[in-house]
Amino acid sequence: MTIFSYIRILVLVTTSLVLSGCGGGGSSSSGASSSDPISMTTVAIHGLNVSFNASGYVEYQANQARYDSIIQKTMSVLSYPNSRHGRPAIRVLGESDYHALPYLTGNGSNFCTASQGCAWYGNIQMSGWTGVDAIYLVNMRKAILGHDTVLVHELAHWYHDKETAFVKPASATNSYNSAIDYYNTNNISLPFPAKPNEFLAYMMEAYHSDGVVLSAWGFPANRAELVAMNSGIIAALKELHLITP
Ligand SMILES: [Zn+2]
Repeated sequence: MTIFSYIRILVLVTTSLVLSGCGGGGSSSSGASSSDPISMTTVAIHGLNVSFNASGYVEYQANQARYDSIIQKTMSVLSYPNSRHGRPAIRVLGESDYHALPYLTGNGSNFCTASQGCAWYGNIQMSGWTGVDAIYLVNMRKAILGHDTVLVHELAHWYHDKETAFVKPASATNSYNSAIDYYNTNNISLPFPAKPNEFLAYMMEAYHSDGVVLSAWGFPANRAELVAMNSGIIAALKELHLITP
């Protein structure tokens, strides 16, 4: 059931990349930065700094209002963890030339089929981009429009890492484990192997899905279903400071 490829490679970095955000989309700059091996166009979209390669930028412009709306909603519902940790850089690569890009070698090429859309957080071993604490999207038409809580999902990973680097209260671990137990004892399967971090990210999607702007992909599909499960995951999300305590 692989529609999207979610790859998360946990690489702990010693630097914290906190970008200063500003309001809506509009301001942009172009050029190759010290951390990007190719020229990227960076746009500040509702506090999220999104960098596009050329084909990625064409994809963005083709449906800009919709992408901006999804990002606005995403940043709104994540305002609490955002206030604690800021946000990572987002890099968007277009479908058309992703597999032809020269830096895509090694691990990265094994995980993403551009035509299906891909999203991941972490450092895939792309030449020139190692050490960048960023979220990557490939083919945003599929990765975002086909799954509009994808940024909630990837940002949940990022905030989780930032949070547990500071403190990991035992109570959070208990709630978290009880929620995992609930899933296991009720034979609820996730689209992908239920690694704890993936479980948490999917539950963040459900918590923030309203079915209008953001729609979770999986079960539970929205907050009402998540609450009805009474699984303990909401307590865990609060204790991990991923949602407002
Ligand atoms: Zn994930």
